[in-house]
Amino acid sequence: MKIAVIGAGYVGLVSGACLADFGHEVRCIDRDLRRVEGLRAGRMPIYEPGLAELTADNVAAGRLSFEHDLAVGMKDAEVIFIAVGTPSRPEDGHADLTFVYQVTREIAQNLEGYAVIVTKSTVPVGTSDEVERLVRSLRPDVEFSVASNPEFLREGAAIGDFKIPDRIVVGGEDERAREVMAAVYRPLFLNQAPLLFTDRRTSELTKYAANAFLATKITFINEIADICEKTGANVQDVARGMGLDKRIGPKFLHAGPGFGGSCFPKDVRALIKTGQDYDVPSRIVEAVADVNERRKRRMGRRIVAACGGEIRDRIIAVLGLTFKPRTDDMRDAPSIAIIQTLRDAGGVVHAFDPAGMEHAREVMGDVTYFQDPYQAVAGADAVAIVTEWESLRALDLKKIYGLMRTPVLVDLRNIYGPEEAKAAGFTYIAVGRGDLRE
Ligand code: NAD
Repeated sequence: MKIAVIGAGYVGLVSGACLADFGHEVRCIDRDLRRVEGLRAGRMPIYEPGLAELTADNVAAGRLSFEHDLAVGMKDAEVIFIAVGTPSRPEDGHADLTFVYQVTREIAQNLEGYAVIVTKSTVPVGTSDEVERLVRSLRPDVEFSVASNPEFLREGAAIGDFKIPDRIVVGGEDERAREVMAAVYRPLFLNQAPLLFTDRRTSELTKYAANAFLATKITFINEIADICEKTGANVQDVARGMGLDKRIGPKFLHAGPGFGGSCFPKDVRALIKTGQDYDVPSRIVEAVADVNERRKRRMGRRIVAACGGEIRDRIIAVLGLTFKPRTDDMRDAPSIAIIQTLRDAGGVVHAFDPAGMEHAREVMGDVTYFQDPYQAVAGADAVAIVTEWESLRALDLKKIYGLMRTPVLVDLRNIYGPEEAKAAGFTYIAVGRGDLRE
């Protein structure tokens, strides 16, 4: 099939490369000329494991190409995916649909024959209806369908998630669109991926409900962690005890500094706004957003407290900046609020991240970045682990001890545990480990 994917970001690029790998002929279109030129020259605009190789293979096979001009890119496409960003609107937190509607207008202007226009971007309930209305008003002369097909991939594991998904959700109002979408994903039927057909509004809401639920699960265990700290319990064991219950499951029960990233915070905010707009406010989701927001700065204050409450002109090493490992994405990363808190308290921040420092520099000034964790901790009064990158899971703690001024380890991901940290001579502070109280 001929497929156009508009927006060559995390979702568009991964979807485009994977769909090409299924055997479709895919054009990825982006309005960012440098991005398109870079992709044509084999340069990846994002860090995602395996993506460079998958892209190169499919370009070489002639199934994947990159376009700047939307009219050229969508020519003859039977399916047109919209995969542009839907960030939070600064005024009210709702999803900003400017890019989606911009692209919709351009698609409408250039439609030549029947195509299925697919909203893959995460969009609030009713957006695909609006896309349909807009295209119909601009082009009453052409036949088209609009389908919703939210994306559930996780950055850092995106290719695997796209190719072996837990489920594919497609919302469509007509049989023709459903048949086309079934053909797009037919290669996945071999893996028995459940293809769930719904109406468009249900499909759109499913994405928000899923993300809000996961964000709730994280926030829930974080609150349990707080209770553990006050009561002398161990949150890791509580989580294990909970997670072995099949009704609950072990995933997303790791206490930490709070959720971040390009999806959960903005999708939670957008769902809150939808609830308010329809006069059915979601008090649970509102609480999740509020608790999580406060938590990030609290984790910063925890580091300050670990240094005796005073960090003016003292060096704090922060290891791991991205909102999770295996991505370079810094959007809404908890490290931003944590570092801001440290800076507000007068601390000097030295930082290291395996992939996120380039983007971190764009959002955080007044931080000195280092090319390796051992350089970052040199002369520090405390080291805080904020993201659980693999390369930060087996640090030589004895070596770090030798490099630091004061041996304080604040492990916001509970990687090391008290025995290992104390054996290396550290004062050890973790999350939800009330059992470590002296
Ligand atoms: P992104 O910012 O990485 O990429 C968006 C791309 O769209 C950019 O390259 C931008 O230049 C391009 N673009 C914007 N306007 C354009 C236009 N008019 N014409 C052509 N290109 C245009 O965003 P992303 O992380 O890939 O997210 C895209 C959507 O997918 C969002 O709605 C997001 O919520 C959703 N989503 C993201 C993830 C994720 O893990 N990142 C997962 C699931 C769903």
